[in-house]
Amino acid sequence: MGGRDRSDVVEVVRASADLREIVSDYIPLKKSGAKFRALCPFHTEKTPSFWVDADKQLFYCFGCGVGGDVFKFVMLYEKMEFPEALKMLAGRYGIPLPVGRREENSDRQKVLAVNRQAVGYFREQLQRSGGEAARKYLASRGLGRETIEQWQLGFAPDGWSGLKSHLAGKVPEEHAVLAGLLARKEETGRTYDRFRDRVIFPILNLSDEMVGFGGRVIGAGEPKYLNSPETAAFSKGENLYGLPLAKEGIRKQGHLVLVEGYMDVIALHRAGVTEAVGTLGTGFTAGHVRLLKRFTDRVVVNFDPDAAGRAATKRSLEVLLENGFEVVVVALPPGKDPDLYVREFGAEGYRARLAEALPYIEYLTREVAGRVDVAQTKGKIEALNEVLPFLARLDNPVQRAGHVEMLATVFGIEDRLVLQELATAVRERRKTLDPHGAVAAAPARGVSESEARLVRALMDDGEARGVLLGEIEEDDIEPGRVAEIVKAIRRSVEKGEDVTYPRIGADVSDPARDLLTRIAAASHPPASLEEGRGCLKGLRASRLQRQMGEIQKRLEGGGEAALIDELLRRKVMLKRRIEALRDASAS
Ligand SMILES: [Zn+2]
Repeated sequence: MGGRDRSDVVEVVRASADLREIVSDYIPLKKSGAKFRALCPFHTEKTPSFWVDADKQLFYCFGCGVGGDVFKFVMLYEKMEFPEALKMLAGRYGIPLPVGRREENSDRQKVLAVNRQAVGYFREQLQRSGGEAARKYLASRGLGRETIEQWQLGFAPDGWSGLKSHLAGKVPEEHAVLAGLLARKEETGRTYDRFRDRVIFPILNLSDEMVGFGGRVIGAGEPKYLNSPETAAFSKGENLYGLPLAKEGIRKQGHLVLVEGYMDVIALHRAGVTEAVGTLGTGFTAGHVRLLKRFTDRVVVNFDPDAAGRAATKRSLEVLLENGFEVVVVALPPGKDPDLYVREFGAEGYRARLAEALPYIEYLTREVAGRVDVAQTKGKIEALNEVLPFLARLDNPVQRAGHVEMLATVFGIEDRLVLQELATAVRERRKTLDPHGAVAAAPARGVSESEARLVRALMDDGEARGVLLGEIEEDDIEPGRVAEIVKAIRRSVEKGEDVTYPRIGADVSDPARDLLTRIAAASHPPASLEEGRGCLKGLRASRLQRQMGEIQKRLEGGGEAALIDELLRRKVMLKRRIEALRDASAS
């Protein structure tokens, strides 16, 4: 887009737009002297400190300090980027936006142009005689003409070339392939309609561009849902069905309701639950997170996390939790999807369910309790270890602590020690709990290849064991499972016992034994003394480097002369040791 065209049109829009008029569309303004005032829409207040100066075409709030021109207001209120705000205001005042040649020719523009043609065709087909089954289907779901208009629903007839013939002569066939509306047969190169015998749900983005389509089979048939493929204009990971129509509802309710199907979204909106949006058959992505963060940080999930691909659903919800969203789960009675439920019980009944929605952690806890036998301590620990990783993702310590009692209640934990361990684990955001306590106290961490090979050398080679045990220094190995294993080996040697996997395994905690078993089962050949020494050197070198880094950081922080001297002294010593280690390896 040419720079001058663009800035010209920005000025034309700015000159045409009346800030007072635009603001009044959203909030009631009261005249006060030469200006207008209102309760600020951007912060909560009881006395109005939000002002609109119609002469200067500026707004500002003495309460929260926001202010700016008409573009700024629209961007803040509508949570839009500048281009969207410009487009909206230009549209409102009937000012055509210049379309740069480059943009006109982009793949994205080609796809959007094809989609605009296609939606007209789909909508027309719904009204034709061939669309009778689709009309019946929609009517059976309670969808009248008005809803069909609002959501621009359509119908793709059965057959391979209905849309293809419609588009012929209007857009290049190649563009229709780019848009994913025509598919191409590999062998013959012939194209055909992708959507056949399906109700069509156009997918709009926040700028009201028709970016893609969803199609649902009317009767039986697979797949039940079919979306446009990823194109230059459409990505499942960047769009949510119904979001443009849900913006206002989300803002009003302070949350959004996430459902799975197109019909669920429409049914909820019809009933007045206008904050509902639909996933497009994909997990949550960073793109979705960006999209949603503009509107709310509270997500009500209304699809069964047990349904197809529980693992995938869990990962999606994890993405939301990690990004600071508050996630709650609504459970509807078995066999009731949101569409059925809201048609039977209305918005009121549905909102009652929303009010009972469980925080995701609690939902998960109950689900685990239904699956794992928590009558025994072993089961309780196992169950806790399933939930702790999710709890650890919560940033807010108060929120985390709030769940301890719930966990204890649901899993029936009464043992004071276990309770204490649990509280500590939750506070420290640990992902596992160990009944022995000792292991749980060390932060869980991965085990490096060097550590694994060192353990192997200690276990497999009696001669190497004696030499290496003499050479391992106290903090060569960080606290944790490996350190525990090495200690057990040392104990065995000191007692004059044979060092065997079963014996050492019996002498360490469960997690350490699991690790030892894994190391033993690895298909590598036994490690030699030389290799063991190499591993030890590597571990020591990285430990020394780490200490060096810490000293360096403290030195940069500054401090009293005596402290600096001491740090410098330690630094010199460390440097000597690192060099000695390096020389030894080189020789
Ligand atoms: Zn304010």
